[in-house]
Amino acid sequence: MRGSRISKKSYDVIVVGTGAGGGMAMKTLCEAGLNVVALNSGRRLDPVKDFGNHRQRYELKYRGFMDPKDRPKRYVCETEITQPLWEHEITYTVAPGSRWVWARCHAVGGKANFWGRSSARFGEIDFKAASLDGCDVDWPVTYEEIAPYYSRVERMIGVASTVQNRPSNPDGDYLPPIKFRCLDYILQKGAEKIGVPYLPDRCAQLTVAHNGHPACHYCGGCTNGCDTGSFFSPTWFTIPAAEKTGKLELRTNAHVKDVLVDENERAKGVAYIDRNTKQEVEVYAKAVVLAASCCETAKIMLNSKSRHWPDGIANSSGQVGRNLSDHLYGTPAYGYLPQLLGQPSRPDNVHESTVTWMPRWQNLTNPREEKFIRGYSVYGGGGCDNFPYYHDQLEGFGSQFKRNIKRYYPTPIGFLIQAPSLPSKTNYLDLDPDVKDVYGIPVARFHFQWGSNEMLMWEHCKQVCADLVKAAGGEVWGAGDDPFPPGQSLHETGPCRFGNDPKSFVTDRFSQCHDVPNLYVCDASIFPFATDKTSTISIMAFTLRTSEYLIEKFRRGDV
Ligand SMILES: Cc1cc2nc3c(=O)[nH]c(=O)nc-3n(C[C@H](O)[C@H](O)[C@H](O)COP(=O)(O)OP(=O)(O)OC[C@H]3O[C@@H](n4cnc5c(N)ncnc54)[C@H](O)[C@@H]3O)c2cc1C
Ligand code: SF4
Repeated sequence: MRGSRISKKSYDVIVVGTGAGGGMAMKTLCEAGLNVVALNSGRRLDPVKDFGNHRQRYELKYRGFMDPKDRPKRYVCETEITQPLWEHEITYTVAPGSRWVWARCHAVGGKANFWGRSSARFGEIDFKAASLDGCDVDWPVTYEEIAPYYSRVERMIGVASTVQNRPSNPDGDYLPPIKFRCLDYILQKGAEKIGVPYLPDRCAQLTVAHNGHPACHYCGGCTNGCDTGSFFSPTWFTIPAAEKTGKLELRTNAHVKDVLVDENERAKGVAYIDRNTKQEVEVYAKAVVLAASCCETAKIMLNSKSRHWPDGIANSSGQVGRNLSDHLYGTPAYGYLPQLLGQPSRPDNVHESTVTWMPRWQNLTNPREEKFIRGYSVYGGGGCDNFPYYHDQLEGFGSQFKRNIKRYYPTPIGFLIQAPSLPSKTNYLDLDPDVKDVYGIPVARFHFQWGSNEMLMWEHCKQVCADLVKAAGGEVWGAGDDPFPPGQSLHETGPCRFGNDPKSFVTDRFSQCHDVPNLYVCDASIFPFATDKTSTISIMAFTLRTSEYLIEKFRRGDV
């Protein structure tokens, strides 16, 4: 004991974090009758007060651009409405020569309160990538064994898409897709001409009422949270389900510092800082699930030092924090469609979603067909937005300028590349030996740079998207000079990789730590590397599987 307050009650399971991973773990474990205490770093949010609820930019004090004094530290995903829910008090550092942005949402439910909802399954081409191209390691699972969990998650949360029969993107159980906009039909024609796919994305947004949740009413406010729960978020789906069981105790403003161990070096609980009282509290359970998000989970493990684990708990492999991988994001092309000049305004932005995507089409038959290995995907979009961001493309002033802005209103288009970085020995996070946060906890320090493979994808994608715009009869205005900074995609993976060999991997194929059998990891840190797909639906599918594995262990008295 370290001068902490001790919780009297002991639980079956502690779940750290209540986001996509933690929420799914809580729901599954509680529904199986286990007593769960969930700890979340920040407060509960109230959809009525904290979400957008149809407030428009012009109703906000700073017209959606935030208080100028807060702008320098603003994360790209943070808005004037959601600002109080993002983490700025607990800091991090970036090593010299590196770049990383670490946006964290400390509210209950985490980042999936405001996520983009793109929800493609990983496939065998991802799990066996190393066998195909000889780089790095295969995943310790097959698609066949995880596919049923994807189906169950899709049926639970509702994902809108179509069956597409793409070799790198397994199809799932879908609601009707979000309808294409006028610009999508035009871009799709261009894509056909140059031989690349342009299809409905897999989007966890309810095109029809689903499992007691109302259908989307297309207000376009998703980035500020959905007031009707018409897209999946833990706030509307998994957390209420867990609470309904009466088996959940949810402690808020409980910032977990480290995992505590018993005399056998097994996890016996966690210590957290009560952010209201600043007091340290210890809570005990038979098993601990870390789901604090990819890098935070690694940070907690590195901070969990004991006599037996001087380099952090369950880190005999030395791999906790290593293999940090991310999606290179950026704007490979933007421009406009002259065909739509002067057309009436359409509610193109009403779903504020990834309506369409261009799923990976590279290196599908020959893994080394391109100059790079693996592959990337692209999201396309544009049309009438609530702010005419293209204003700097047009010349003029006064009423003539305003008329021109209006004429161009339905025309702008743009693309977003999603290119996975390859794991590298030089991309990782560790603890900064010189910096502690306001609670005296050593902070995470990031070491990261884009590698040559993903930069080749970026150059390739710029050419393809420019060709597509031209083939669609559009004009290219330009492309991003550089990709966005690393970390900005919020799809980081890797620092607690799963794999079969305890010498090389942190957890086994069920996300159970090799070194500490009652410690589990339920977030994207287990995925060995980023793919061309986003990670949230996979976090949920793998968490469902891990939770049921843990439940079975409880049934057998093997925890
Ligand atoms: C704008 C935006 C768009 C996105 N678009 C997509 C998309 O289209 N598709 C997709 O798949 N993903 C998308 N993402 C990413 C997606 O939101 C994340 O992959 C997902 O939410 C991760 O879930 P998680 O549970 O691992 O982590 P989080 O959502 O970060 O949840 C972690 C929880 O743990 C809590 N926590 C953190 N540290 C501690 C601690 N020390 N002690 C106690 N509690 C702690 C936090 O408060 C939080 O509630 C997007 C994210 C954003 C913000
Ligand atoms: S567009 Fe649909 S999912 Fe998004 S906030 Fe509005 S109702 Fe909710």
